[in-house]
Amino acid sequence: MKQDLPIFRLHPNAYQLDLFAPEVGTCSCCGHLRDWKYRGPFYAIHKPDYLCPWCIADGSAARRYEGQFNDELSIEGWQPDPSVSANALNAELIAEVCDRTPGYLAWQQAHWLVHCGQPCQFIAYVGSTEVEGLRPELAADLQHLNDTHVQALSADGNPTGYLFRCLQCGTHRLHTDGT
Ligand SMILES: [Zn+2]
Ligand SMILES: [Zn+2]
Repeated sequence: MKQDLPIFRLHPNAYQLDLFAPEVGTCSCCGHLRDWKYRGPFYAIHKPDYLCPWCIADGSAARRYEGQFNDELSIEGWQPDPSVSANALNAELIAEVCDRTPGYLAWQQAHWLVHCGQPCQFIAYVGSTEVEGLRPELAADLQHLNDTHVQALSADGNPTGYLFRCLQCGTHRLHTDGT
């Protein structure tokens, strides 16, 4: 019996982006025999051998291992002090990013971008061609980057572009890094 894979609102392409490997195994968290093994980041002291997408989507893996798939500090604008007004995101949205959304593979510390006061969706790893096509929308993010860096971006190389999109207004945003 095949179960439909859970959908991640903030990471809709997670399965196409190789964040899950097609590998049969018993999930360390739920104990079910599964055929998709998570291979993205998970920040926990005791790391499970095998996590299935269902245990990420329903928050059970984050609870059981007291871990996070995305670090709070990686969320743009997040401040440790809840009284700081820059903390525009509510706790529920922060928990969705950290506890119930797969991470993505970055060269350095990943960043989760924010727009319209909400965490964006992670769309894809991108290179210079995709970035050029979205240049007007990405203007604010690109103004901090030098052209040589932008021209060198590749989806599966170094440096890499990480493309996000706002769920509210549809605007794309870009984070980049390399070694
Ligand atoms: Zn599981
Ligand atoms: Zn927006």
